[in-house]
Amino acid sequence: MEKQEVLSAYGIEDGIISDRPYGTGHINDTFVIEYMHGEGSRKKILLQKMNHKVFKRPEAVMENIQNVTAYIREQAIKRGGDPRRETLNIILTENGKPYCRDLTGGYWRAYDFIEGATAYDRVEDPECFYQSAIVFGNFQRLLSEYPVENLNETIADFHNTAKRLEMLKKVVAEDPCGRASGVQEEIDFAIEREKEAHVLTEMAERGELPVRVTHNDTKLNNVMIDDTTGKGLCVVDLDTVMPGLSVYDFGDSIRFGASTAAEDEQDLSKVSCDMILFEIYTRGYLEGCAGKLTKKEIEMMPMGAKLMTFECGIRFLIDYLQGDVYFKIHRENHNLERCRTQFRLVADMENKWEIMNRIVKKYAK
Ligand code: ADP
Ligand code: MG
Ligand code: MG
Repeated sequence: MEKQEVLSAYGIEDGIISDRPYGTGHINDTFVIEYMHGEGSRKKILLQKMNHKVFKRPEAVMENIQNVTAYIREQAIKRGGDPRRETLNIILTENGKPYCRDLTGGYWRAYDFIEGATAYDRVEDPECFYQSAIVFGNFQRLLSEYPVENLNETIADFHNTAKRLEMLKKVVAEDPCGRASGVQEEIDFAIEREKEAHVLTEMAERGELPVRVTHNDTKLNNVMIDDTTGKGLCVVDLDTVMPGLSVYDFGDSIRFGASTAAEDEQDLSKVSCDMILFEIYTRGYLEGCAGKLTKKEIEMMPMGAKLMTFECGIRFLIDYLQGDVYFKIHRENHNLERCRTQFRLVADMENKWEIMNRIVKKYAK
């Protein structure tokens, strides 16, 4: 019922051929609608109910997406590319709005469906990971001149490792579930790295790292890969686009994509940062950025990987201490296990620090 009302806001009243849930995203409710559009032609759209709990200001989110996609589209057109496949394209409602609301207050939006492309869940093939790196690098390159001050900061302090650590200390002190004494080792691991937690944010404050348009959810599953050519097409899932540091975007891809184990692996001996995958991603990312990153940004890429992983571990630890209120858990200690894989990765990166820096240097041209 709700959806019918939304579809009619887009002028789709009848002629619907199919309507099905789509994709494996964890945030929004995603559907693909196929319908008859004019004389005998079919059209597919991606309809999403936005997650209002995570995104408290859906209007601000949509404003960012509108601005960024318009900017990328313009460049694709100038270059003679295909704007329908090189960026998300928002479909406006009949009232000319980038989203619509249902009777319960929910926010919905629609995009042109990108045909003949797939977003993969896991790194099954290094080539695919490489393609995703190029696409995220391209995203940085295409937006390198974008006036970043025009973007809304839709989630405050999204990647501020130092603030996360402060939060951890506070939660440890309060210890609302009496769990702190059981995880002293993890707490110590975090506190021992307090100085480093500040490194990137302080560099940004001193103007040594530029504030850029960042994606903030740079996983493989948010990249469309062309089914025919196997080449990366574009980045999707622009909900968390906001001002930030490029090295955190790079770092999150590494954290997730270059790990040899799942985020919640219980056997920590299986967890490490794969240097072959690290190299593949670094090469693709810098290729995609095509000289748009500063020397300092490139130099800090390993730090981005490490701090992003560290930050993530802290977030899991906080949630464990708070009684698992943010991340969904599927078993007891799930968040603690997730924290442990992240911290294991951090330790592994510390062991491989020289190698990581050497790899980055090799492609830093
Ligand atoms: P979530 O925030 O829940 O992850 P996404 O915006 O990433 O939602 O969408 C979920 C999935 O839908 C993506 O992983 C991708 O497979 C697919 N998808 C997203 N946008 C499009 C699009 N415009 N065309 C085709 N598929 C898309
Ligand atoms: Mg997604
Ligand atoms: Mg998302």
